[in-house]
Amino acid sequence: MRNIKYIVIHCTATPPLTPVAAIQNYWRTQLHWKNPGYHYILPADGTIQQLLDEELVANGVAGYNNVCIHVSYIGGVDGDNNPQDTRTLSQKAAMYYMVCVLREKYPAAVIQGHRDFPGVHKACPSFNVKDWLKEFIP
Ligand SMILES: [Zn+2]
Repeated sequence: MRNIKYIVIHCTATPPLTPVAAIQNYWRTQLHWKNPGYHYILPADGTIQQLLDEELVANGVAGYNNVCIHVSYIGGVDGDNNPQDTRTLSQKAAMYYMVCVLREKYPAAVIQGHRDFPGVHKACPSFNVKDWLKEFIP
């Protein structure tokens, strides 16, 4: 099993209704990635789609991917492409469910946002993950 040190929360930085296939297509054709950016992607309707086996390495955070599981909601920007937490209630529920499942599986892993890694100059996931988790996990 991989040594998972981080469960990383992302946004896709796309409009909230962007289809999963369009995002995958962008990774393949524009970025030339062999593996997806994330293990799990969460569309606005609250569903959860697994894009990659957890044992395989995704492309979420350069330099850390070997020790990460990546989870992303679709959205994260407003109409002008500025960072905004666009999560629907269903998406928040799906995200919390994923955090619980992964936390049980990887109890030693730190749960944090993409922007919480050193040297990252992105707003991803457009909200403060640790503050959000405090609502659930004391
Ligand atoms: Zn990210």
